This record gives sequence, C-alpha cells and structure tokens, in this order.
Amino acid sequence: MKRGCVWVILLVMPVRSAAPSYVQRQTAAVRLSENARVRAALDWLGNNLPWVNDTQVRLTEIPAPPFQEEARAAAVREILEEANQSVHSDKIGNVIGELRGTSENEIILLSAHMDTVFPSGTNVKVHRDGDRMMAPGISDNGTGIAALVAIARALQSAHVKPQRTILFAGNVGEEGEGNLRGMRELVETYRSKLKAVVVLDGSGIDHVTTRALASRRLEATVTGPGGHSWSDFGMPNPINALIRGSVRFINTKVPYGPRTTFNIGQIEGGTSVNSVPYEAKIKVDIRSENEGELGRLESALRESIAAGVRDEMEPPRDRSKGALEWKVDLLGSRPGGELSADSPLLAALRAADEFIGNQSRVERSSTDANIPLSLGIDAISIGAGGTGGGAHSMQEWYDAAGREAGLKRALLTVLGIAGVAEEKAR
Ligand SMILES: [Zn+2]
Repeated sequence: MKRGCVWVILLVMPVRSAAPSYVQRQTAAVRLSENARVRAALDWLGNNLPWVNDTQVRLTEIPAPPFQEEARAAAVREILEEANQSVHSDKIGNVIGELRGTSENEIILLSAHMDTVFPSGTNVKVHRDGDRMMAPGISDNGTGIAALVAIARALQSAHVKPQRTILFAGNVGEEGEGNLRGMRELVETYRSKLKAVVVLDGSGIDHVTTRALASRRLEATVTGPGGHSWSDFGMPNPINALIRGSVRFINTKVPYGPRTTFNIGQIEGGTSVNSVPYEAKIKVDIRSENEGELGRLESALRESIAAGVRDEMEPPRDRSKGALEWKVDLLGSRPGGELSADSPLLAALRAADEFIGNQSRVERSSTDANIPLSLGIDAISIGAGGTGGGAHSMQEWYDAAGREAGLKRALLTVLGIAGVAEEKAR
C-alpha cells in the first residue's frame, strides 16, 4: 500500500524576543529527543563510540600542517560522502557536506577546523591506552573533526530531516597564520542564508564560547648590512637591536581589565655564530577584550622596536659602518564580537545542556566563531566531549571517557537551532 507523507515542522526554537525560561528550554530539548528519529540519532552516537574513537585516531594520523590540509580534507570528504551527503570542496580547501532541510534558504553551519599548529614532519602517530590517546593534534582538533563526521553519520543513519539546511564543514586555516581563512571563506559564501554557526573545537563540555576575543599577530623585522664578527666589530647588529627593542616591549604595562596579553612566540635570524647578522625577526601575538587596547599595544611594539634600533646605533662603538632598518607587519587580525544573551542559538545549547544534565560556563576566546560573531551572525564554539590537554604541544592528549555526552550535546544544539521536520503518515 502506498502511504502519503507530509513534512510537519516541529518548532523547537524558542522565540527571540525574550530569553526562554528553564521550563521552556527543557520542554524544547525533551520535545526534540521525543522525536523517534532524533532519538535514533542519539542512540547511534551511543552505540558507535568505538567507531568515533577509531576515526579520531585515523584522521589525527594524517598530517595537516598549516596550509597543508589537503590529505586530511580528502579523508574527511570520504566519510561525509559515506554519510550520503553531497560534498564539495571550495577553492581554498574547505570540505562541505550538505544535509538538505525543508528550507533551503536558511543554513546552519556546523564546522570543525582540520589544520594543526604542527609543522610538516612532526610525528603524529597516536599512542592509545584504552580510552586515552596521545599525539600532537589529537584533541585540537581531532576531537572536533571526529564529532563532525560522527554527527553527520548519526543523522544519516536515523534519517533525520532538518527544517533548515545543515552544512558540515571541515575547514582549513584556523590556527595561527591561517588567520581563520577557512571560516572567512565559508561565511562569505553563505552569508545571506546563514542563520547560525556551531564550531566544534577541542574537548570538554564545560564551556561555551560566545564572546570572540580580538587579537592581532605582528612580525617585527630588523635588517642591516651584516658582516664578520671580528673584522666588522661595531657594525650595528639586527639581533642586538631586536633584543633591545623586545626588552622595552615586554616591559609595557597592560591592564588587568580589560584583560590584555602579549606573547613573543617566535624569534629567528642570524647566519652563523661568527657573523654579524643581516636580519632578525620576532612574531608577536597580542590579545585584548578591548580593541582599543590592541591598538595601543601595537603602537607600543612599533615604538619599542624603533627605540631598540636607535639604542643599537648609539655609541660607545663606531656605528658608521652601516645603518639598520626596521618594520612591523600585520600577519593577521581576528575581530571581536559577542553573541547576545537571548539568542536562540544559546537557548538551544542550554536546552541540550539540560538534557544531558550539564552546566557550562560562558567563555571569551579566539576561535573560528570570531568571524560570524564580528558580522552579527549568531555563533558559538564548543568542545566535543571527553577531556583533553596539552593543546599545541607534543604532549597533547585526549581521553574519550564521557565523550558521548559531548556528542549528544552538539547534535541536540544543532538540531535545536535547525529544527526538525517530522515525517507523519497521512
Ligand atoms: Zn582548535
């Protein structure tokens, strides 16, 4: 017998005008989880934790240094295709799978960055001991990427049809000098339809990042003629000048509130121990809760480097042998922004938290969510469950115990904001 079907929209999103009460939020999550298909998707996650763990190990072991994410992207693409999504790659290397909703004009983006901070050649072999895994990049962002493809598979195997179209993006360029280029491209491409962005980054379920921390990355370079350590003694030395300038810079006073920080993260230069160098560089990361403080700190860096060069050109030695030049370049800039406290996206996250019996604190951080937030598009960044530590170090670790709660939290948040169309027999 042929059965006619009609898609009925379950409105699970709270109204925007007022922050929903505890009861409303709880009702939203319970209603969502009472949908048989949503329940089946949640069950899929619970029943396939070994697959999620294995997938995390497999993807982490494919190196993805900055600007070299292709191999990992190809593997992510394969998994999304296995989840029956129509998948494409954009011109900068993002992989985008689509779960079409009843409304194609409204898009929810679920993303996880694929890149790591580790250079090419880093040993990324994962050491496993039960639920515990160790490798550079295992948590940041092996956890997020594994959760992204797991949620895609869970929704596919349970035949969940969302109201709004959900895009699953493995994106490039989140770390360091990637300067959020993957997310910038995604937001630019889908901006007119984009209703919310959920970023999966790292582990844990203890926080939700709703405030985007503004930051800038700068490179200071000092150059000179260079020469021989003995015969050209007195020649102004770019390393000396940079050290003099750096000492001035790190003595800059920064306020506790708005919290403002700086870090000289890389230093390079020189030719050999017996050469006066012709070049020296530092890379500096500055962050603040206030854009104005960022500007002040950037000026302080420029003034310090200029003063360091001046100091190096001073007597007591004869400096007539050559002059130094300096410059400070902006390598990247991440804009700030903030999710409104009554946003439906935050309500969906809170509802998911209540469903899994979790309480999470609101955080300010620098993530892919900076880009949509800076443009007024609702966005959050959350961990994808389990626990991890040692991010950006060779001792990075992840423990998958309890990851199920994080996976369910992410799935319910996305469905909470996308809405679910329920198939009903007529
Ligand atoms: Zn990350």
